[in-house]
Amino acid sequence: MQVFKFGGASVKDAEAVINVGSILKKHAQQPTVVVVSAMGKVTNKLEELVKAYFFKTPNVMEVFEEVKKYHFDILKKLIPNSSDPIYNDLENVFLEMLWAIEESPAFTFNHHYDQIVSLGEVLSTKIVSAFLNQAGISNQWMDARGIIQTDNTYREGKVDYELSEKIVKDQLQPVLERNKIVVTQGFIGGTSENYTTTLGREGSDYTASLLAYFLNAEKVIIWKDVPGVLNADPKYFKNTQKIKELTYHDAIELTYFGASVIHPKTIKPLQNKGIPLFVRSFLKPEEEGTVIKESDQRLNVTSYIFKTDQMLISIQPKDFSFIAEDNLSNIFAIFSKHGVKVNMMQNSAISFSVCVDEDDFKIKPLIAELQDQFKVLYNTNVQLMTIRNYDNDIVSKLSENKVVLMEQKSRNTHQMVIKSE
Ligand code: ASP
Ligand code: MG
Repeated sequence: MQVFKFGGASVKDAEAVINVGSILKKHAQQPTVVVVSAMGKVTNKLEELVKAYFFKTPNVMEVFEEVKKYHFDILKKLIPNSSDPIYNDLENVFLEMLWAIEESPAFTFNHHYDQIVSLGEVLSTKIVSAFLNQAGISNQWMDARGIIQTDNTYREGKVDYELSEKIVKDQLQPVLERNKIVVTQGFIGGTSENYTTTLGREGSDYTASLLAYFLNAEKVIIWKDVPGVLNADPKYFKNTQKIKELTYHDAIELTYFGASVIHPKTIKPLQNKGIPLFVRSFLKPEEEGTVIKESDQRLNVTSYIFKTDQMLISIQPKDFSFIAEDNLSNIFAIFSKHGVKVNMMQNSAISFSVCVDEDDFKIKPLIAELQDQFKVLYNTNVQLMTIRNYDNDIVSKLSENKVVLMEQKSRNTHQMVIKSE
């Protein structure tokens, strides 16, 4: 039993979906769960749709029609016969989306976000599953909203392991044993009240890892548009190097600091059961890629992790009291309440500074609440650079001609918050 994950880029157009089919033909000779993300950049588009709906901007229908056309264009190329039941099936999902954006918002932004954005995965898996069946790759579509059960923390659903595991064993495993291939959505889950939740952006990897954990799978393969885990993002760095083998420990450190190759939550379930994770190229499926597994071979290449769209927030007690345990626990409670993750932090006697992702929806209310008790200063438009296994030459080269706002180092990790140019 194995779990495959195909991200947005691997299903971004009809040719890409056909390529998924040929990978499955070759590599899915055993029972396989296929976890699929929304097609291409659809999640971003649907985020735009939710914002337009919730904040009542006039482009709602325009975005809706754009998303609809994109999916039907792909479908027409894959399954030209428009009397195939998949056409009706897709129409129904868009009807559901239309209802969701026609009623006035009755819940929080995050609640509406999950009901609408999750449909990207529903659409993509319906198309992929129908195409595969037609291409002779027999498979069963399953709805992850009825499998991955979460609490109602919208946009960051906390998974109920016990309940989800039971559903996987009772419902998914038998289908897998009969049909050999199950196609389901990454990133989405459901609550006990039958609402949809999402697991956080890029959460499909996490879904794949959870399903592997519940099924005691032999392995997980994440198929990507890069040849494996690289020591730096080729978007920002020349001469990147592929890492052949990585321990769970190094993988979790790299992804935690922002290496976007896999979602940071992916590693823990796999590590807990010793399930290896392979990262391979869907463009060159025969190539080896990277394997992440238990070993005592620690990573010794220098890795660069670059996070853009960061902001630096400085928090100072209004009464000139020290930043000590009581202030800190208070500050952390406020961060946790607003679901803001701290990417780097530092304190002095009367000031505490943190680097966080710039996310309007979370940061504005966070700052408002902090300002009740503290003086808050912030810089937007900064970047966070993390270098693992650094040496001083590398650091000085990278910080040359840059304004470094905050800096920190441990024995093997160097971090800098840099002003964007
Ligand atoms: N489609 C979702 C996203 O873009 C989940 C994923 O791709 O993993 O964030
Ligand atoms: Mg994605």
